Amino acid sequence: MYKNIPTQHIRHHSFDEQDISIDVLRLDLLDPEVSGNKWFKLRYYVEDALALGKTGIISVGGAYSNHLVALARVCRDNRLISAAIIRGEAPVTSNPSLEQMASLGMQLLFVSRSEYAEKDRLLQAFLNKHPHYYAIPEGGRSAMGVRGASTILDAAMRSPSRKYTHVACAVGTGTTLAGIANSLGAEQRALGLCSFRGDGPAALGILDFLAKHAIQKNHTVVFDYGFGGFGKKSDELTGFMNTLYETQQIPTDFVYTGKLFYGLYDLAGSGYFRQGSQILIIHSGGLQGNRSLAPGTLNY
Ligand SMILES: *Cc1c(COP(=O)(O)O)cnc(C)c1O
Repeated sequence: MYKNIPTQHIRHHSFDEQDISIDVLRLDLLDPEVSGNKWFKLRYYVEDALALGKTGIISVGGAYSNHLVALARVCRDNRLISAAIIRGEAPVTSNPSLEQMASLGMQLLFVSRSEYAEKDRLLQAFLNKHPHYYAIPEGGRSAMGVRGASTILDAAMRSPSRKYTHVACAVGTGTTLAGIANSLGAEQRALGLCSFRGDGPAALGILDFLAKHAIQKNHTVVFDYGFGGFGKKSDELTGFMNTLYETQQIPTDFVYTGKLFYGLYDLAGSGYFRQGSQILIIHSGGLQGNRSLAPGTLNY
């Protein structure tokens, strides 16, 4: 299931003129629920939980977390029970992500934002009461998540091998970027485009995580395409996403991959890439998150 993922070439006269080539690894085509990078980040945790004889997995995240939706589904597929500690009180009206988690059998435990600040303690307290559970940190962010993400490029139908000079992905926790960077040759560059602003504590957290886990130091994080913050968007962004779909038939999500493609087009247009560069964009999916947009915002 998670093999033979197609790579699509982007046709664009401006890229041709500059003699750069851009391909996209379409991880968004994997599955509507376990989208993109998430299965790869989760795979070794699930293996570990099963090997330890655990019967359930718990993790933590926000009310729109793609990580939790994917975890709910992967647990169901592996006959594990699942639970999640969710940041924020139970919403008066639910949202499509929470409904999806619940419909996959995930037990949802809502905590206030201030309680959530102690998320690792909450996980430990849950494990103390429920020793048959296995815990995964927020966003699957740890060495084990990085190891899973380092297998993403193995999934490409035609192995991307060493031909790419740059492999670009969206950055939330930085786990995916670290894994990709570790799987590249030292002469190849991993380029992460951050989905939020670069001036907050979360940005420092990413750089710190990468300093520890991306061992070849062949990565760059670009913070210029955060569009004002995580989950924030503008008409310019959604307009770009619509044009990208019309011209290349590539649907993107507004939280991660829309910003990733916008940023890549902008960098390419401003001469960031040297002549002859061959770029692979990892489309990490997340399309189910678009269901929280007002109807008619997107043309797909
Ligand atoms: C979770 C997610 C990311 C971010 O991955 P990290 O490993 O947390 O950096 C990127 N794109 C999509 C679509 C995601 O759902």
